[in-house]
Amino acid sequence: MIKSFNGIQRQSPAWTNWVGNQSCVPSCIAEASSEQDVVKAIVEASQAGLQLRTPGTGHSFTPISCTDGMLLDTRGLTGITAIDKTSRTATVRSHTTIAELGVPLWEAGLALKNQGDIDSQTIAGSVATSTHGSGQTLGSFSSVLSACRLVGADGNIHEFSLDKTPDEMAAAQCSIGMLGVMTELTIQLAPAYHLHEMIVFMPLDELRERWDQLLAEYRHFSFFWMPTDASSELYGFPPAMADFCMVKLYQETAEKPGTRPLPPNERIDRSYRIYPHVFEPNFHELEYFLPAASARDAFESQREFMLRNLPDSIFPLELRFVAADQAWLSPNYKRDSVVISVSGKPGTDYWPYLKMCDQRLSELGGRPHWGKLHFMTAQRLISQFEKYEAFRTLRRKLDPAGMFLNDHLSQMFG
Ligand SMILES: Cc1cc2nc3c(=O)[nH]c(=O)nc-3n(C[C@H](O)[C@H](O)[C@H](O)COP(=O)(O)OP(=O)(O)OC[C@H]3O[C@@H](n4cnc5c(N)ncnc54)[C@H](O)[C@@H]3O)c2cc1C
Repeated sequence: MIKSFNGIQRQSPAWTNWVGNQSCVPSCIAEASSEQDVVKAIVEASQAGLQLRTPGTGHSFTPISCTDGMLLDTRGLTGITAIDKTSRTATVRSHTTIAELGVPLWEAGLALKNQGDIDSQTIAGSVATSTHGSGQTLGSFSSVLSACRLVGADGNIHEFSLDKTPDEMAAAQCSIGMLGVMTELTIQLAPAYHLHEMIVFMPLDELRERWDQLLAEYRHFSFFWMPTDASSELYGFPPAMADFCMVKLYQETAEKPGTRPLPPNERIDRSYRIYPHVFEPNFHELEYFLPAASARDAFESQREFMLRNLPDSIFPLELRFVAADQAWLSPNYKRDSVVISVSGKPGTDYWPYLKMCDQRLSELGGRPHWGKLHFMTAQRLISQFEKYEAFRTLRRKLDPAGMFLNDHLSQMFG
């Protein structure tokens, strides 16, 4: 084991992601609570000829954070360093979680434009994989990154911004940690807003009838379709019958919380309190992004397929919408998306089922979520991502020795 710059010599403890399907044994772990710590770790790893990966909170299902080289733990890099109310931006240290942003942004009259199903991820991890919520006009976390500070493989600090370095930014907005270690991210925000949430269980036929209206009327329209009577509870939702959907509808509202009694399936609260749900680590998820215009056809075809392939496909299917962005590796690059996700049960051989989903969704133009299970190869990425070669060229320029790769990333981006 090499001696770590900050004196920490933890004897190669295994690192495991949140859900427990990915783990690694790094040869050393370094901790950073400042940008200078990050620089020192990278220089040290480079001198020792080690690759280096930096996990966020480990909520990716793919081995994107694994390494047998140096694992850089940036848990000390948290907090907001600046808020600009005029331009509605905040600069945030990389390991700050989405949950930690809620209150301070609210107190500044600001909020994240959108959020996903949980808020435990770090801001850097969310940007790195284009984490998203739902909303036809709302982009992913990649779409709101306007500038960042990143320590490169040479130990130098790079400052990227939309106006000064547009190409580097388009690459950094979704880089899966391959360009270097981000220390600070500047993100675009919205004025603080309340959301009115309605959770409605509807039979699929009703959803089919109301689909266009719900999509047009609500800020957020998404749903979980239940293939069996046992499906809903697997994600911790109330019981629902087979072929019912749990529909999530959010609308911005000027109404303050607590001004009138609401039915049990409705809430009005600050946006950041409405978005997150709590999941048990009892599923391994695959998620693909398809052209938004194909949403209904893609859903119907995937539903038919799942019904034919029981019993392994009993986790709910989730369907969401994301607006197009400009990030080179984003699955929403220049394309409005419908996002379909399905899950396998840990401890079962779900691979044949997920592989069939991959084949089916890829035929419909599916691009992968980098943090969720997929079956991509370099060859497949070339046809799916217009800017694949541009990203790879820039990655090789910034990191010629491949310090920020691991086996999983090398086979796709080496
Ligand atoms: C229960 C659950 C719910 C989820 N819900 C959603 C959802 O609603 N929408 C959605 O899109 N996704 C969702 N995800 C996926 C999740 O948002 C992504 O996988 C996200 O990347 C996880 O963030 P993290 O902080 O855990 O990062 P990790 O998974 O630990 O890392 C992700 C990537 O970020 C990189 N990274 C982390 N820190 C840095 C840094 N400082 N500099 C450079 N690179 C860095 C890592 O190297 C890695 O490549 C969910 C996952 C789970 C387990």
